[in-house]
Amino acid sequence: MSREFCRTVLGDISSSKMGLTYSHEHIVIDDCYVTSKHPEFLLNDTKKISKELINFYKAGGRTVVDTMPANAGRNILKSADISRKSEVHIIVPTGIHLEMYYPENHWRYSYTEDELTRLFIADIEEGIDQFDYSGPFVKRTRYKAGLIKLATDNGPFTKHQEKVFRAVVNAHLQTGAPILTHTNFGRKALEQAQLFKNLGAKLEHVVLSHVDRAKDIDYNRAVLDVGVRVEYDSAFRWKKEEPNYTFDLLENLLPQYANQITMGMDMAKNAYWKSYGGSPGMNYLIETIPGFLKSKGLEEYYEKIFFNNPRKLFSFFKL
Ligand SMILES: [Zn+2]
Repeated sequence: MSREFCRTVLGDISSSKMGLTYSHEHIVIDDCYVTSKHPEFLLNDTKKISKELINFYKAGGRTVVDTMPANAGRNILKSADISRKSEVHIIVPTGIHLEMYYPENHWRYSYTEDELTRLFIADIEEGIDQFDYSGPFVKRTRYKAGLIKLATDNGPFTKHQEKVFRAVVNAHLQTGAPILTHTNFGRKALEQAQLFKNLGAKLEHVVLSHVDRAKDIDYNRAVLDVGVRVEYDSAFRWKKEEPNYTFDLLENLLPQYANQITMGMDMAKNAYWKSYGGSPGMNYLIETIPGFLKSKGLEEYYEKIFFNNPRKLFSFFKL
């Protein structure tokens, strides 16, 4: 293993092998608390999922970063199977999602900071539970987590969320694993970035998702100035009659923050998947972004967004 590596579901690979990388995806969302209320999130058909990823591979895609953390729809055996079938590297997270993904009496509230830290580290170093912590027995597989996720919503951070932040940063500093977060439409991204900085996280291995949904260029600039990475995934979501805010942000920010911007599709709804009969499909970015960058004279940044930045970001750092 060369010095720089990332941890995929099928094992550690040299980061130089990551190739074209999407930085925020949903590859598997198995039956769980949230899909019982929102069946549109269900992504459990390994045949259909593999088909989409095989097409992604054919278009040049090599690595996807999955973003469903502990007990929120992970099925690590399915993830491993899909990676084998499609040959696409899949990085799977540990960590905890938004509160809405869990029942009110969930263990996330009663576990201490130290217990959460240990659970995250076990996912990264020992292997993810075959049952994804949904029952009393834990049966660790050989498939390990390669990043740590947390999520915040619209309000000021709660005491519970602050505990999760500390546990995530503890696990990050003890394992070298990167951190990825969810923001609601980019809200609280600045507060997330500042809290990570205060907790001593390695900001070049921390990426905040969906910040393009905040639309505002100065706000995005303020987040980037803290030193974290951002992930943009709404290029295909804006309505026809409104500006493409994602494209506007890329045009304005790439020259100054070339090393900090990544992109993904975030296709959590199966209606976005071509293999599920939906659109625009996973290859949308590969089909669209080069032409957009060229039209603005920004084609030199393609390598940064899809190759260099995710490679550095999702590599484990040296302890
Ligand atoms: Zn997502």
